[in-house]
Parts: sequence; structure tokens; C-alpha cells
Amino acid sequence: MPNEIFIIKERCTGCGSCVKVCPVSCISMADRDKEEGVRWKKLAVIDVDKCVFCNACVEDCDRLFEKTKAKVPDTNVFHAIVMHKDEVAVHVDTAAYKGVWCYAEQRHGKIVPTIYELLHVGGGMAKDLNEELCAVLIGHNVADAARDLIEHGADKVYVLDHPVFEHFLDEAYCSALTELIRKEKPNKLLMPASIIGRSFASRVAISAHTGITADATEFAIDPKTRMMRATRPSFGGNLMATILCEKHRPEMATVRPMSFPRRPAEPGRTGKVVPVQVDPSRWSVKAKFVRFDHEKDDTVDISSAEKIVSGGRGLGKPDGFKLIEDLARVLGAAVGASRPTVDAGWIPYRHQVGLTGRTVRPKLYIACGISGQIQHLAGMSSAEVIVAVNKDPDAPLMKLATLSVEGDLYELVPALIEEIKKVRGN
Ligand SMILES: Cc1cc2nc3c(=O)[nH]c(=O)nc-3n(C[C@H](O)[C@H](O)[C@H](O)COP(=O)(O)OP(=O)(O)OC[C@H]3O[C@@H](n4cnc5c(N)ncnc54)[C@H](O)[C@@H]3O)c2cc1C
Repeated sequence: MPNEIFIIKERCTGCGSCVKVCPVSCISMADRDKEEGVRWKKLAVIDVDKCVFCNACVEDCDRLFEKTKAKVPDTNVFHAIVMHKDEVAVHVDTAAYKGVWCYAEQRHGKIVPTIYELLHVGGGMAKDLNEELCAVLIGHNVADAARDLIEHGADKVYVLDHPVFEHFLDEAYCSALTELIRKEKPNKLLMPASIIGRSFASRVAISAHTGITADATEFAIDPKTRMMRATRPSFGGNLMATILCEKHRPEMATVRPMSFPRRPAEPGRTGKVVPVQVDPSRWSVKAKFVRFDHEKDDTVDISSAEKIVSGGRGLGKPDGFKLIEDLARVLGAAVGASRPTVDAGWIPYRHQVGLTGRTVRPKLYIACGISGQIQHLAGMSSAEVIVAVNKDPDAPLMKLATLSVEGDLYELVPALIEEIKKVRGN
């Protein structure tokens, strides 16, 4: 039996509460026919094709029923939505889904660099599957970005260009991408685990009625089943979990930034640009863009830095970061930190490197007073050159580092700063 959902007309008061709770905006209020002889003027109507059978409206209507019943025990209103959900009956023809898609996040028409990492991962999977690598570009006045995506490996770029996409709004972007997924049926969909991607991707997965692996750091295609094996750290980084989405399509994942190399540009590479018409009047967008407030910060951003000097609990006090900043300044590096120093309020979160902070991939990573627990390593182990400064020669990071310097950071770091200044002649 397929999933079904319907309204018991006699019990619906047309209050509109279900419209507000529906995450996919598939419920609207219609005028009732006069001859029905019901005193309520409106009636809820559900667009079953858009419904994801999440049960939110049923729960809401039942809550109103309980509330009313407490005052009027023999009430015959609310409890008006009936849903039959048969998970076993959900059958997706997985063979009908083709192509590896990458959602191409952009800011002011420029592709966010993480997307080149997605195109590297997606390109590998598309090759293994012998399918097309496609990018989906949503925005306003983004034609140049489409060319950039093709030069970075996309065979085809779906372009959804409309003033409604000028600023990122989850509901509009999600409605547009879900409609495109339903129409074009991609096999895999990768999205960046960026701030926007994390909230947007989960919403798309719910709307498209499929599963998602969040924050994956490894990908492979199973040669037998052609399914995506997306791996992510679990249990605080102590275990790597490989997740499969067997019954639903597209198989979705968000990709942790800085976990993969960026696909280089091939100037002059050709591909297909597919403009996609959208009709925003079909969507219910409740949020409104007001303004963007930029964070005031004059330090170098760690996520794109080529050199990072990080401080850990070994600094012993918040002031210790002054020394880290001094070394970073002479090297033209960004300042990173381990989690305990962030938790202690010694330095803001945006500097945290690791599993629950940023993943970085600099050419040089200098760790001062950081032991190198697995959760920290998860964020920096792909740095090209790692220098560890630590009193304890057995600290895990001292074993992993390219260069391990044993000693007190309060003696070694000032000496290093002086040496660099001497070499530079200042
Ligand atoms: C779910 C979860 C997520 C986590 N996410 C993160 C994360 O994103 N990032 C992260 O960093 N951690 C994270 N952690 C915490 C992580 O497990 C470690 O506790 C943390 O990385 C340790 O930080 P640290 O190396 O600064 O401190 P410690 O482990 O205490 O190491 C301090 C080091 O400094 C050395 N030292 C002391 N004094 C000096 C000195 N004067 N000179 C030189 N060396 C000195 C010591 O020998 C020691 O090796 C997470 C933990 C969990 C459970």
C-alpha cells in the first residue's frame, strides 16, 4: 500500500496551524463549498506529491485536539489529518537515477573554493560509474561561475538564475533543488559541509525523501552495487563509520571542507550549460533576507591559510596566545588552537582546529603545546609539513610531526622568533 494522507473535512476548522508546521509547504487553505453545511470557512488541502510524510501536521492537529478536549470533552474538531505510512512500500527505481551532482555554492557569483574539492571527489565517482559529473548552480547573475565549474571538471552545469536567489534562503533554494532532483533524478549528490551546506543539505534530503551522510571525509564506489560508500568520523573521532543509502536516491553526502585536494582548472575545457526555469510563486518562503553582518576580525582565516601556528593547553594561560600571535606575525601565518583553549575562552572558536573545529590543509603547521589527540589530528594531519613543539617527546603529535622539537615552548618560541627576525634582517 502506498503512503497516504488525507483530511477529515468534518473535523478541520481551517485554523491554518498545519500550514505553519509543514516543513515542505505542501499544505494550503482553501475556501469551503457553502453547501457542505459546516460553519468553518476554510479547509486544509494537502499536495500529496510534495508531502514527505514527516507527520508534523498530524502531530500538530492532534495536539490541538487534546487541548480542545481538555476544555470540551466531547469535541468533534481537530484530530483531522490521517496518515498511513508504509515504509516497506516505498520503492525507488534506483536504476532510473543517473549522474553525480555537486551543489556549487557561490558567494556574490564566485564559486566557494570547497566546491573544487567536491568536483575532485565527484569526478572520481563519476569515472568509476561511467556517468556524467554535473554541477548545480543556484544564484543571480552567475553565468561566469558556470564556465568556472566546467573548467574545473563539470560535464554539465544546471543553472538556476533568478532574482529570488540573490541571497541564500533555505526555503527557496531547497524548493528549487528538490524540484530539479525530482525531474532529473541524479544518482549521487554532494554538498559542502559549509555553514550554509550543513543546513541546506539536510533540508534537501528530507524534501527529496532520501538519506544523507553528514561531514564525510572519504568516498568510494562499491564496484558490485555501484553504491556510494561515504565514511565519516564517529564517536568523537574514535571510529570511522561507512554509511550506505540503499533504498533511496539520490545518495547524498556533505563533504568536509579541506578533506580532499581541489580539482585544478583546465582552461578552455568545454561542457554543457543547462538553464533551468523556476517559478518561485509555487513556493512558500517564510524567511526574508534582511542584511548580512560581517564579523569584525583582522586575523588571517585558518581555513584557507598556507601557514598556521597553533597553541594548545601547554600554553598554560590565555596570555600564551600573545606568543603564538608573535610567531604567526613574523611568519605571515594564521593562528590556530586546540579545543581546550577555545573551551577555556582563551581564544574564539573560529580558530579551533579539529573534529569539532575547522579542517585545515596548510603547507606548514606549527603546533605549540598540543599533545595531538585524534580529534585534533582529524583537523590538521594533511598539512604538508608539521612542526611540533612539546616538553613531552612521547606526545602523539611529536611522533607524527615532520620535525619534533622537544622543550619548553616559552624558551623555544621566542628564540625561534628572534632567529626568523635575524634571517629576515629586522
Ligand atoms: C567529541 C570530541 C570532539 C573534539 N574535538 C576537538 C577538536 O576539534 N579540536 C581539538 O583540538 N580537540 C578536540 N577534542 C579534544 C581532544 O580530545 C583533546 O582533549 C585536545 O585536543 C587536547 O588539547 P591539547 O593538546 O591542547 O591539550 P593536552 O592534551 O592537555 O596537551 C597539552 C600538551 O602540551 C604540552 N606542554 C605542556 N606545557 C608545555 C610547555 N611549557 N612547552 C611545551 N609543551 C608543553 C604537554 O606535554 C602536552 O602534550 C575533542 C574531544 C571530543 C571528545
